[in-house]
Amino acid sequence: MASGMVGSFQLMKSLNKSLILNVIRLDGPISRAEIAKKTNLTPPTVTNLVAELLASNLVIESDLGTSSVGRKPIMLRIHASAFQVIGIDVGASHLKLVSTNLNAEIQETLLVKMPNPITAPSFLELLIHSVDTLLEKSQLQKDTILGIGIGMHGLVNPKQGVADYAPNLALRHIPIREKLETAFNLPVEIENDVRAMALGESWFGNGQGIENFICVNVGMGIGAGIILDHKLFTGASFTAGEIGHTTIEIEGPKCSCGNHGCLQALAAGPAIASRVQEEIRLGRESLIAELVHGDVEEITGETVHQAALQGDPLAIEALKNTGRYLGIGVANLINILNPSRIILGGGVSKAGEFILGPMKETVEKRALNSASICEVKLGDFGTAIGAATLVLQKLFMPEYSNGDTRGTERVGLQ
Ligand SMILES: [Zn+2]
Repeated sequence: MASGMVGSFQLMKSLNKSLILNVIRLDGPISRAEIAKKTNLTPPTVTNLVAELLASNLVIESDLGTSSVGRKPIMLRIHASAFQVIGIDVGASHLKLVSTNLNAEIQETLLVKMPNPITAPSFLELLIHSVDTLLEKSQLQKDTILGIGIGMHGLVNPKQGVADYAPNLALRHIPIREKLETAFNLPVEIENDVRAMALGESWFGNGQGIENFICVNVGMGIGAGIILDHKLFTGASFTAGEIGHTTIEIEGPKCSCGNHGCLQALAAGPAIASRVQEEIRLGRESLIAELVHGDVEEITGETVHQAALQGDPLAIEALKNTGRYLGIGVANLINILNPSRIILGGGVSKAGEFILGPMKETVEKRALNSASICEVKLGDFGTAIGAATLVLQKLFMPEYSNGDTRGTERVGLQ
């Protein structure tokens, strides 16, 4: 019993420390007295825990604040540059790596092309080699790195740290955490790529301060990351947000999942390309055919966008239909979860008004409540920044973390 009490005291202490740390992150520079007010902790507790945070170098004292009575208080802020985090986006064809400071500001980036096909062991080797390259490139000391976060496409189990199914690499059950933790002796967090992107937008992007929003990524596939009450919602087995596989047309085209008429089979990049290819094969005249010099197989979503910019009717029509399908998917999301904002990311969203216009129109018609619709703020490295945020979340808000609870002892939080 005694050891149990010691254990719960330790846990309480580390949670209180994270709580203080997070208040300093959100409201710093801030005085000890203000922290006590905001956290409802006693001033002596705050003083003790702040002393430990100062000793760990996570927090530093900054300028003096203002006070109407008595002497000016010493202000505290996060020592953002004292530690780094590594974030990795595992997409369909590339690895994108970033190293960031504690504010998720990018210090260094690395883009690595993945061979395809690839086996699970060579994929893991490539991941490890890429992290090594990034460390070298950014001349980081390993003892100031707090952890590695990974946003992986497909189905992911963040608790076990395993990528269950990565469709674009045709791989299953990749033990990412186990391999990377062994290789680097650093805590490793893993989450689905779109879910990571949503978390990044929530902390540092267009979702900042928004209680309920949904990040929808439209690229090679379609997925969503759902933030409810400022927290990433993952569902019972981590697949919440797989809107790409919701049925939009019962008799629609076949999807990679085996069903027919999924949103992804109608509105993702490859779906736009294949609809256009079919029309051209049936004899429809279009600038798109010229752009690929008659090789219809070479048509991509990007080619269609290029043609639309030059006024090609087929291209404009294809993107308009895509916008309508997306609008139906998004309206369904709004009707189920009533978010106040939808944030769009991914390659297809770059087609701008050609898709956004008809999409917004459809949403207005079909959703019972309105939600503002905007694009992601964090751009091409958004998923990698989101992956880094997984590690930051474990440090600042461990109670929100879906990963395991190890790791934060590096900075004395456990
Ligand atoms: Zn499907």
